[in-house]
Parts: sequence; C-alpha cells; structure tokens
Amino acid sequence: MLENKVVVITGGTRGIGRQIALGFAERGAKLAIIATGESKQTFQTIEELKQNCSEVGLYLCDVKSPERVEEAAKRILADFGHVDILVNNAGITRDNLLPALEISDIDDVIDVNLKGTILVTRAFIRSFVKNKCGNIINISSVVGLMGNRGQSNYAASKAGIVGFTKSVAREYGKKNIRCNAVAPGYIQTDMTEVLDENTVEQIKQSLPLGTLGEPADVANLVFFLADECSRYITGEVIKVDGGMYV
Ligand code: NDP
Repeated sequence: MLENKVVVITGGTRGIGRQIALGFAERGAKLAIIATGESKQTFQTIEELKQNCSEVGLYLCDVKSPERVEEAAKRILADFGHVDILVNNAGITRDNLLPALEISDIDDVIDVNLKGTILVTRAFIRSFVKNKCGNIINISSVVGLMGNRGQSNYAASKAGIVGFTKSVAREYGKKNIRCNAVAPGYIQTDMTEVLDENTVEQIKQSLPLGTLGEPADVANLVFFLADECSRYITGEVIKVDGGMYV
C-alpha cells in the first residue's frame, strides 16, 4: 500500500529517521529527505537509500528556518509533483536542570523540535488540501506526556507537538488529511548514546519490558500510521516505550 507514495522525512539520515526512510524504501515509496547535512552519515544514508529506492532526494535544510523550509518544500513539490506522507522526525536535545539551561538551549530545542514541526507541516498543508489527501506523522516523545527531570525544555517541545497534532487533526480531518503522533521511550540512537552505562542500566531496570527500544520499533508504528489500514485513526498519540509510562 505504500508503493509509489511520496514520503517526506525530516531528519531521515540518522537514528529513527534513517530506519523510517529505509523501511519506506523497502516498501517501494519515493523519498524526500530533509536534514542539515552536518553529519557525515548524511551522504552514507542517501547512498544506502538509493540502492533500494526508485527516487530519493536530499534537501539540505535547517527546519527552524522558515525561509529554508519554504524553499525546500517548493523544491520537493517541483521534483515529485506532490507529497502523500510527511514524517516530522528531526529533533535535538540540550538537557540540563532548569536553572542551568542557557537561553540558547531553550531556543534551539523549541525551535527545532516544535517550531520545525509546525513550519514543515505548514509548508506542505496547502498541497495536501489541493490533493484532497494527506498523512502527517509527528515524532513526539513519551517525556512530552510524563515530563522528565533535566529535560524541561525538551519535554515542553514534545508536549507542544501533541497539541499541534490534535489541532491539525481537527482542522484538516474533513479534507481527508490525518495527523497523528508517535511517542517513543528510550531508543538506541546517537541521541541516547550520551547516557553512561549506569544510567542505561537504571533505565532498563525501570522499564516493564526491561530493555531499550530500537529505531525499528518506532519505524514499525510509523508504517502502520502511514498505511491505509489505520485510515480511521487521527489526532492520536501512540506510545512505543517498553511500558515506560503506563
Ligand atoms: P538522532 O540524533 O539520531 O537524529 C536526529 C536527526 O534529526 C538527524 O537526521 C538530524 O539531521 C536531524 N536534525 C537535527 N536537527 C535538525 C535541523 N535543525 N534541521 C533538520 N534536521 C535536523 O535522533 P533520534 O533518531 O534519536 O531521534 C529522532 C526523533 O525521535 C527526534 O525527534 C527525537 O526527539 C525523537 N525521540 C527520540 C528518542 C530516543 O530515545 N532516541 C526518544 C523519544 C523521541 P543532521 O544529521 O543533518 O543534523
């Protein structure tokens, strides 16, 4: 069902986004990947995707820049003609206790995670309306639902994505556009690589399923939401967290 669908993935070069991109490629989708290009892995991932994907494009763009986002969206629509599915996955952390957070830590996290999600969705929404069809999947986080010590800026940005998701679902449901969010727990990627061994052990002990998740655990939920089999689901936030927040 995902064959020949045009999918835009922000942050589709590393971690969860890369896994989502590889899975869509295997299912025969066409891919427009948005990333900053600052990581060496960017071009490796694009080469890897090219081996499985009939059409793949890389659009270097910082999602917190309104101008760059508009420019990238225009180029994607010109290259692919339309877009079927948008996955807002790009995200960063700048963790610290509240008094130690620099203003730039607050701005960067809110701007990339929340404002970036809003800007990219805004840039494609008219095209979805024109096509009378669209599917938006936002990557939030379980800490946006439960909060987390040392992550107040990040949790706030991810909670914002929940409100945004539900609003877009209400605003565009009648235009045949769905919007859902996925809320992962601890997933093994560069983002969680910074955690020391003790912390990882403590997290594992605290989880009902006793282990960290893998990018594929999140990607599988994204494929379900992207597929027609979830056609009656919108405005939902679905956790994939090993029972972290039950
Ligand atoms: P990674 O750090 O592994 O990858 C982040 C991706 O986002 C990269 O592809 C990066 O591209 C891209 N990105 C970062 N900043 C920008 C920007 N300003 N503009 C465009 N692209 C950008 O993260 P994960 O794979 O771990 O996380 C993916 C998503 O899942 C994030 O939204 C994260 O908050 C969320 N999440 C992750 C969890 C985890 O445990 N890992 C848990 C819950 C949620 P580039 O390399 O070009 O910078």
